[in-house]
Amino acid sequence: MNQTAPAAGNFLRARIEDDLAAGTYASRRWAGRPGPAPAHAHAEPDPARIRTRFPPEPNGYLHIGHAKSVCLNFGLARDYGGRCHLRFDDTNPTREEQEYVDAIVEVVRWLGFEWADEREDNLYFASDYFEWMYAFAEYLIEAGHAYVDSQTPEQIRVNRGSLTEPGADSPFRNRPPAESRELFRRMRDGAFAEGEHVLRARIDMASPNINMRDPVLYRVRHAEHHRTGDRWCVYPMYDYAHPISDALENITHSVCTLEFEDHRPLYDWLLARLGEGGRLNMPLPQQIEFARLNLTYVITSKRRLLQLVQEGHVDGWDDPRMPTLVGLSRRGYTPESIRLFCDRIGVAKSDSWIEYPVLEQALRDDLEARAPRAIAVLSPLRLIIDDYPEGRSETCTAPVHPQRPELGTRTFPFSRELWIEADDFTEDPPKGYFRLYPGNRVRLRYGFVIECTGCDRDAAGNVVAVHARHFADSKSGTEGAAAYKVRGAIHWLSAAHALAAEVRLYDRLFVDPMPDAGGKDFLAALNPESERVLGAFVEPTLDALERGDRFQFESHGYFVFDGTVPTGIGRFNRSVTLRDSFSPRR
Ligand code: ATP
Ligand code: MG
Repeated sequence: MNQTAPAAGNFLRARIEDDLAAGTYASRRWAGRPGPAPAHAHAEPDPARIRTRFPPEPNGYLHIGHAKSVCLNFGLARDYGGRCHLRFDDTNPTREEQEYVDAIVEVVRWLGFEWADEREDNLYFASDYFEWMYAFAEYLIEAGHAYVDSQTPEQIRVNRGSLTEPGADSPFRNRPPAESRELFRRMRDGAFAEGEHVLRARIDMASPNINMRDPVLYRVRHAEHHRTGDRWCVYPMYDYAHPISDALENITHSVCTLEFEDHRPLYDWLLARLGEGGRLNMPLPQQIEFARLNLTYVITSKRRLLQLVQEGHVDGWDDPRMPTLVGLSRRGYTPESIRLFCDRIGVAKSDSWIEYPVLEQALRDDLEARAPRAIAVLSPLRLIIDDYPEGRSETCTAPVHPQRPELGTRTFPFSRELWIEADDFTEDPPKGYFRLYPGNRVRLRYGFVIECTGCDRDAAGNVVAVHARHFADSKSGTEGAAAYKVRGAIHWLSAAHALAAEVRLYDRLFVDPMPDAGGKDFLAALNPESERVLGAFVEPTLDALERGDRFQFESHGYFVFDGTVPTGIGRFNRSVTLRDSFSPRR
C-alpha cells in the first residue's frame, strides 16, 4: 500500500522539473485559445510554464479515481506556474450527454479547482476541434500517411494479425491519395453507411505493437452529437482526437493512465507527422502514464456504476454509497478530505490497490478538528430518573469542540425522562462493562451521576425502560462533581426535548475487496446490508441546519445533514465511524 508516499518527488514532478530546467517548452507561443500552428505562430510566449489537462468523457459522473487525475493535473499546474485545462473528450457521439457535462463542471469546482481567470478560460470541448481534425486528416492522406480502407470491419479485424502474427496489408493500402481524399469527403458528406469505409493511418502492419498496425483514425457514424448535432457523420477515434486536442491546446505534459502506454508510439507518430507538416505548434506535447487508482471494495468503471444506477441497486449517482464524487459528497466527504487522500496515495508507475480505510482516515483527519460535536441517540431506550421531579428541567452545557474552546459551548435540557442507547444498559453485565446495570453508577455526560435501580419489561420480555436515581450534587461543571468517581459515562437526550431524526448508517457497497477483478460478477458481491435506516433522536440544538452541515455525534462517528425527509424530520448520513473497524457498526 502506497499510503505515505508524498506527492512531492514523484516521477511526474521529476520529469516536469527536468523539462523546466532544460527549457524544453520555453519557446512555446500561445494565442490565448487553442489552435493549429499558424494561430500561435505570432502570439506572445505562453505565460504558462506547463499546461496539463483533465480530459473526461462526458458519459457518466466522476468518481474517486477521476479525483486522483483531477488533483494530479490541476495540482501539477498549480505547483509549477502552469495551467490545467478542463477538456471534455466528447468525440464519441453515441454515449455523451449535457447532463454529464454540467455535473462534471460542478464537481471539479467542488473539489476546489478552477480553469478560468481574467486572462484565460480553459474549458474546452474536443468536438470544437472537429474541423481542424478533419483538415489534418486530409493533410495526412495527401502526405501518404493515411488512406481510406474499404475492407469490411471483419476483414480489418482478421488482417490486423495477433500478438504473435504480423498483420496483412489491406488491398486498399496503396490507394492513390486523390482517391482516398475523394472517398473521405464522401464519408463526411454522408454518402456511406457505417462500416463501409474507414480512414486508417499508414504506419506498419508488421509492427509488434498492434496499435501501430494502420490504426483506424475515422469512422462513419450517423449519430446525433450532443453539441454538434448532425453536422458530422464521420467521427475521429480517441487515438486520433486526443493527441491533436493536446497539441491544439499547447499541452506540455499529457498525463494518462497506464493502459495507454501502448498507445504512446501512436500518439508520438501522429503528432510528429502533423508537426513536420507545419500543422501543430512546437514543441509537441508528451504523454506520461501513471497508475490508476484502484480502491478495495470499490468499483471505478463508469459502465458498471451506470449499471448500478440503471438497475436500481443504488438510489442514483449521488447515493451516499456510490464512489462518485456526488455520492461521496452526500456521504459527507469534504473536498479537503478527498484532496488529502489523493496527496497521501501519491502517484506511482505501476498498478496497486489502495485499502479503503485510507480514504476513510483522510476524512476523519479532516473532520476531527472542525466538526462540531453533538449528541444523537441511535437506538433509543427510555431512562426514567425516578427521583427527579416531573415537569422540571434544567440546562446542561457542553463544549462545541473539546479541543477548541474558542468555538464556545452548547446547551440542552435535562429532565426526568431521557433517551439513552439501548446497549448502554444490560441486566447481565459482561466483565469490563462499565455502563448501566442494576446497582451501578455512571455519569450522564455533561449531567448528573446516576445509579441504576432496575428496568421495566413488556409482555415479551423486552426491556422497555430503565430506572435510576440521581445525585443532585454531582452535576458536571459544579463543585460537587469531582467527588464522584465512576468508570462509565454515557450520552443521553431529554425525551421531551430531543428531535426525531432519520439516521442512515452505511457499510461497504460490496463484500468482496475486488468486486469486479478478473471479470467477476460484481453484482453477486453487493452487500445486502450496505445501508441501515434508523429512527433516532438528536439534540435540540440541531433544529436549523443546512444541507451539508457536519457533526461528530459523540461515540457514533461523523455525520452530515442531508436535508429533511418527507415527514419533515432531519436526515443524517454517517460519513465515517470514529475508528477504523472492518464492519463500521456499533
Ligand atoms: P471510460 O471507460 O468511459 O473511458 P474512464 O474512467 O477512462 O472511463 P474518462 O472520462 O475517460 O473515464 O476519464 C477521464 C480521466 O480520468 C482520464 O484521463 C483517465 O485516465 C482518468 N481516470 C479514470 N479513472 C481513473 C482512475 N481509477 N484512477 C486515476 N485516473 C483515472
Ligand atoms: Mg477513458
